[in-house]
Amino acid sequence: MKIDSPLLVATSNPHKVAEIAAVLEPLGVAVIGLDAAGVDVPEPIEDGETFEANARLKAVYYARHAQRPCLADDSGLEVEALGGRPGVHSARYAGVGATRGERDAANNAKLLGELRTVPPERRAARFVCAMCLADAAGRVLAETRGEFPGVLIDEPRGTNGFGYDPLLLLPDVGLTSAELSPAEKNARSHRGFAARAMAQRIREAASGTQAPAPRA
Ligand code: IMP
Repeated sequence: MKIDSPLLVATSNPHKVAEIAAVLEPLGVAVIGLDAAGVDVPEPIEDGETFEANARLKAVYYARHAQRPCLADDSGLEVEALGGRPGVHSARYAGVGATRGERDAANNAKLLGELRTVPPERRAARFVCAMCLADAAGRVLAETRGEFPGVLIDEPRGTNGFGYDPLLLLPDVGLTSAELSPAEKNARSHRGFAARAMAQRIREAASGTQAPAPRA
């Protein structure tokens, strides 16, 4: 499998591009986001019921439009006490806000409201990330997944990262995901695990160790 460099990453979220680049570039895979690559097409409707389905949908859609291999990430927060919500609806959970920052703040406020009566011992949650790599024809080459468990707190803490990062506490270090440095977050995050597994798949395929069979 030959992967064009830089590898197109199917997101306009600068935080995601930076996190994926920080993991993949030291492993020899340069990446570029949709905006920097000049890929200007309407966003696909993410109507999959799983992170995997949405990652596949985005990778295939943008690969076909850009006619180059494409890596997509679909991610979100699963809260145990809420039966796994917001899950695949994490990005627009509160449904309001014009900017990414406004949407994140509204999502966090909605989640905190729903957790008001949930005691600390029932606050387990995890970020999940599914990644999918498609070739230029839109055939799926590889899929990986990562998880990042923690517990949800009552007040946002920290300014790094994005989304629900200020609410996810990592009990072993006593810090939220938004209080970790970018490198610390990547070392243990859902996206970090999924990206490292993807780098391994790309390396194996490039060296012919294990050429993934394209799937339509
Ligand atoms: P996507 O862009 O459709 O994959 O939606 C991802 C959404 O899940 C984001 O907008 C955030 O609300 C949430 N999310 C995913 N990954 C993270 C993370 O690393 N930190 C905080 N929130 C995240």
